[in-house]
Amino acid sequence: MPSFRELLAATKSQIREVDTATADEMRRQPGAVVLDVREPAEYEQGAIPGALHIPRGTLESSIESRVPDRDTPLIVHCASGVRSAFAAKTLEELGYTNVVSVAGGFNKWKDEGREWTTPRSLTPEQQNRYQRHLLLPEVDVEGQLKLLDAKVLLLGAGGLGSPAALYLAAAGVGTLGIVDMDVVDESNLQRQILHNTERLGERKVDSAKKTLTALNPDVNVVTHDVRLGADNVVDILSGYDLVIDGADNFPVRYLLNDASLKVGIPVVHGSIFRFEGQVTVFKPHEGPCYRCFLPEPPPPELAPSCAEAGVLGVLPGIIGTIQAIEAIKLILGLGEDLSGRLLAYDALEQSFRTYKMLRDPQCPACSIDPDRLVIAEYDELCAPHPIAPPPGS
Ligand SMILES: [Zn+2]
Repeated sequence: MPSFRELLAATKSQIREVDTATADEMRRQPGAVVLDVREPAEYEQGAIPGALHIPRGTLESSIESRVPDRDTPLIVHCASGVRSAFAAKTLEELGYTNVVSVAGGFNKWKDEGREWTTPRSLTPEQQNRYQRHLLLPEVDVEGQLKLLDAKVLLLGAGGLGSPAALYLAAAGVGTLGIVDMDVVDESNLQRQILHNTERLGERKVDSAKKTLTALNPDVNVVTHDVRLGADNVVDILSGYDLVIDGADNFPVRYLLNDASLKVGIPVVHGSIFRFEGQVTVFKPHEGPCYRCFLPEPPPPELAPSCAEAGVLGVLPGIIGTIQAIEAIKLILGLGEDLSGRLLAYDALEQSFRTYKMLRDPQCPACSIDPDRLVIAEYDELCAPHPIAPPPGS
């Protein structure tokens, strides 16, 4: 039976070892990944900037989902170069073709004055709260920090905004802005689950803030108790990463569309009507915009509002929750978002259908330079506004 020294020597003879200077050069190559296999407590004290941290103990089970391409250049290090030697051998056995172990490890790296930082991490309370996210390699600490840094604006604290805001707050989206100028009315409580009977008559934004803060103290709720108009929409949108549209009228949807094109942030669109709902994502200048989808609003007799036509109580919960999922996917860069696709839900049939949506190359809103787009108040017809002449003409 070999001794530890013999096993280490045998392992090192089977892998490629590089010195710290070579590793420092290699990590700057495009696509190269620095893989830190130390324990979490060691990593939190200091790490190479941008390093991927997978402790040695979970390397085999985690590496395939974190680094799917087996030809990725992997620069593996630990504290001194022992654990990384064994890790490099394991990685080669798993089929990774381009693996090196850094001799001397992070201790030598730091002693030589090479670049390192103290990585951001979650507090023990946050590690507990977001544990089910941390178990997903696609989210993990890095993704949770992205969610905590994210800023999402909700247009409306009503039927769609309620479930969306609750789930985004629970998931740890760090900043939630809410635009609403209404007060809580008894007729809202059939579906607007942010509010309750004790809050009747209260400003909706204040009621929403109380509910969301009680759910998750990590969330900063920013209230915009104003009517969204041409004079304030660009200012309100600026600084947010994306918008969840829970508006209930066409003029606001067109206004939001134009402003989101100008500010350059995606809109997760949701709408509900009686027993049906729709969700899509409008990504500025990448996919279709709201005006490509609906060049002009339907006549009022064909599109009565919820107040006139009614809506089944649970329906906004389903649509608003899908909007929240799309928002989280956009923040984390996960999966396929609904840009260019309309997801339609029919509660009576209990069916989902997806329709392809195309961008209109002649679209009066998204085919022009956003600087030339005029943000102006819409009337009932929502007709496009005259476009500003190009600068210098
Ligand atoms: Zn368009």
